[in-house]
Amino acid sequence: MPAAAGLTAPLPTELLTPAVLAELAGCAAAADRDGRPDLAATAVLRTTGVLGLAVPREFGGAGAGPVDLNRCVEQVAAVNASAAIMLFQHYAVTSRIVENGTPAQHAEILPKLASGTWLAASAWSETGAGADKKNLATTGRRTADGWVLDGAKSFTTSAGVADIYLVLVQTGSPEAAGGDTAYGAAGQTFFLIRSDNPGLLPDTSLALTGMRGSATGFVSLHECHVTDLDRLGPLGTAASIIARVRESGATLGAVAVGLAQAALDAAFDHARKRGLLELQAVRHRLVDLSTEVETARAIVERAGRRDSEDPGTTTLHSKLFASTTAERVIAEVARLLSSAAYIDASPVNRYGRDARAVALMGPTNDLCRELVSNAWHS
Ligand SMILES: Cc1cc2nc3c(=O)[nH]c(=O)nc-3n(C[C@H](O)[C@H](O)[C@H](O)COP(=O)(O)OP(=O)(O)OC[C@H]3O[C@@H](n4cnc5c(N)ncnc54)[C@H](O)[C@@H]3O)c2cc1C
Repeated sequence: MPAAAGLTAPLPTELLTPAVLAELAGCAAAADRDGRPDLAATAVLRTTGVLGLAVPREFGGAGAGPVDLNRCVEQVAAVNASAAIMLFQHYAVTSRIVENGTPAQHAEILPKLASGTWLAASAWSETGAGADKKNLATTGRRTADGWVLDGAKSFTTSAGVADIYLVLVQTGSPEAAGGDTAYGAAGQTFFLIRSDNPGLLPDTSLALTGMRGSATGFVSLHECHVTDLDRLGPLGTAASIIARVRESGATLGAVAVGLAQAALDAAFDHARKRGLLELQAVRHRLVDLSTEVETARAIVERAGRRDSEDPGTTTLHSKLFASTTAERVIAEVARLLSSAAYIDASPVNRYGRDARAVALMGPTNDLCRELVSNAWHS
């Protein structure tokens, strides 16, 4: 049956065995019900070696490229989307460290990210900063021996669970030269802050509608002391690092594809159990939905291959197409399941709430549209 096709593609590393996926699936519903960080899922991620996929081999990782990272995120999303966004953020921070870290940062941090000792999170968003992160209120003050950071981050995935946070801070004037960026502003700098820094306080009291096991919450910085050794990349250049992110080919579209596939699998299951595959109308509806999911998967894979004329724009297209497709497919599956999906406990409702989050995650779909259309002027 084609429904499971997306879940059977072998991962090169073969880390996501059926047993591992079953464990991740087993805790997803409870985490969604309770709205608490899915610690069982993070324990699975830490112990299977999957956190090391994006780390180069010389630092103990698998050195996987974006096609495999996207595929891995998709497979996890199909069983536990909250775990998938934690994994996605971990890979994103890992890649930023690989690309921009100093030799000392590589030597110290990458082996820990590879072994699963450390889970990484990304704290850029703030209430009022805007989807494009231009109006940051989190600031860095120069001191004799480093920096003191103050501010409040919101919607940080893996808050309180992560061991290291990539934090976006305003350290200089946003009006400085180079301020005409579409995402981020001049004078912004990245810092890597460990969870044992007494100035960093996570708070997971944020009650989310979807991705409820992802520990997406607040991270406050109060008199948070860091040094220039904790800085990732040159001072004031975070916006240029952000601009290069989409060139990596890693895409949240992979999360959306996993969710859409899970809904499709549920639809096939239901249709088989109820004898609905006898009905041509139902069969054709399922074919159309499968076609949509396959198409979304194809553009996610194309983003990962980075072989289009403009890989960054393909990555933006992949997120836009896969996330809108997932929302549409899941809504159609809910209609197909009829009363079976109209009960609170139906997983299809969770897939729908989780899929909506993908469109809201950075860059938001509207900002993706803006970034794609900006390229037309250049
Ligand atoms: C489940 C979940 C997990 C998340 N995890 C993280 C995380 O780990 N780390 C992190 O830093 N953030 C995370 N985010 C935050 C996410 O990046 C923000 O939701 C996003 O930045 C939007 O912020 P906002 O709603 O405050 O934007 P607002 O600026 O208030 O946006 C309001 C609306 O206007 C649109 N808009 C705003 N500015 C523009 C623009 N310049 N061009 C076009 N449209 C625009 C937006 O798309 C949106 O539709 C997460 C969000 C969710 C839902």
